[in-house]
Amino acid sequence: MKRPTVFIDRDGTINVEAGYINYEDNFIIYPFVYQAIRLLNKLDILAVVVTNQAGVAKGYFPLENVYNLHNKMIRLLENNGAKLDGIYFCPHHKDAKIKEYRQDCDCRKPKPGMIKRAIEELPIDTDFMYVIGDKVSDIELGVNCKCKTALVMTGYGKAEIEKLKRKNIKTDFIGENLLEAVYFVIDDLKKRGYPLSL
Ligand SMILES: [Mg+2]
Ligand SMILES: [Zn+2]
Repeated sequence: MKRPTVFIDRDGTINVEAGYINYEDNFIIYPFVYQAIRLLNKLDILAVVVTNQAGVAKGYFPLENVYNLHNKMIRLLENNGAKLDGIYFCPHHKDAKIKEYRQDCDCRKPKPGMIKRAIEELPIDTDFMYVIGDKVSDIELGVNCKCKTALVMTGYGKAEIEKLKRKNIKTDFIGENLLEAVYFVIDDLKKRGYPLSL
């Protein structure tokens, strides 16, 4: 059965924003994230991470570091009873140093590539998709992929509100953090008559 899906940004939304995150030591998950993802799991809503990691293209850290961090993220979540249904990342940048990843790809947010791939690979109900993130590019991604959107105030969130206004981009919800945004998703699904398994 196809399921509602929340696409979740990584840096600044799941873990503390710290510039280009390359080492496991500066990968710190916000404490409310576990409950947020457990809630999604319990309600059979897919939780899928979508993250730009241009640090790979720029030569700041190798691809391997991204995988190591994601393994750590999976492990920490698992230890707290929470699980992700997918992780997608874009290692590209159009004017980056590393040739292999120097491309104007279709997956760097706000472009839709990661969500398109997820729709091919996972049982996603495309009528009920959401994007949660701390940046304008997350909200634009949602708009581009016909998802409802939520901006969080962690990470770059507070500074991004102004940019949204300036670019005249509307978000469906603004909340303190991922947990509040997940409550918005649940409320919204209920309002739209989606039969959640509460
Ligand atoms: Mg972010
Ligand atoms: Zn890409």
